[in-house]
Amino acid sequence: MTNPPPDAAARRAIAPVICYPNDSLPAPDMQLLAAARSTARKTDEVLVPPRDARCFEVPAGHFFRITSVEGPQVGDLNLWNLHDLSERFYSGKTRALHGTHVTTGERLWSSFPHLRPMATIVADTLDWYGIDEYGGSVHDVIGTRCDPYTGNLLSGTQYHQCCHSNLTRALADHLDLSRAEAEAAVHDVLNVFMCTGFTRDTGQYFMKASPVRPGDYLEFFAEIDLLGDLSACPGGDCSAEHSSDSAACYPLLVEVFAPAKGALTGWQSPAPNGYDRSHGR
Ligand SMILES: [Zn+2]
Repeated sequence: MTNPPPDAAARRAIAPVICYPNDSLPAPDMQLLAAARSTARKTDEVLVPPRDARCFEVPAGHFFRITSVEGPQVGDLNLWNLHDLSERFYSGKTRALHGTHVTTGERLWSSFPHLRPMATIVADTLDWYGIDEYGGSVHDVIGTRCDPYTGNLLSGTQYHQCCHSNLTRALADHLDLSRAEAEAAVHDVLNVFMCTGFTRDTGQYFMKASPVRPGDYLEFFAEIDLLGDLSACPGGDCSAEHSSDSAACYPLLVEVFAPAKGALTGWQSPAPNGYDRSHGR
């Protein structure tokens, strides 16, 4: 261990600076979205079976809701531009812009070079949870997705119902891709309903039993035409472990709602990012 320098305490005492102050982020018009939502009617629904995933499509300007049904269950969500799988949800930049967990009024941003809002969260029945005494909160963009490679690395297992594999199978089935092609498009997720944080002493990623109960939901406004893929995590409520069949698991319901014609007057789907992509000399 290196000896601390004489001014170690002073260096540690420097106050943090927010990396990306987000007061200049283009803000969603939440009033317009709420008014449009009040006119919406359901057009589609998909029930995601436990330890499996399903894809769903949401046209730009529609809403989609993920609801806990039957029992406490967390979901791993991937999003793509419906017309271009290379534009996908970018959890790392979403975290940099909004923080480790997201809620109403915050947005899911897409990968470079697009970097635009894909979806805006318009309702969250777990917004009361806040940040608990362990530093835990709900709907994180810090986890990746449970996957069979990490299980194999840590304990030599061959488990096929991790979210990564569920998302891969569902995408392959939906788009008639090979599993290898689909796997390459699967990316880090929004952990819907999952309660997570980092331990203060060791900085390790932790999870704890989700506060979600049947009837709770997280709802989004689709800013662009979306292809969604949702896995009902084999961890169930993630109170103990994932990457095995030991947890109680439940389905998740996805519903799509279309607002009435004219309800979104003044709203436009966001353009791709304005950077000129020349990258200097
Ligand atoms: Zn999972």
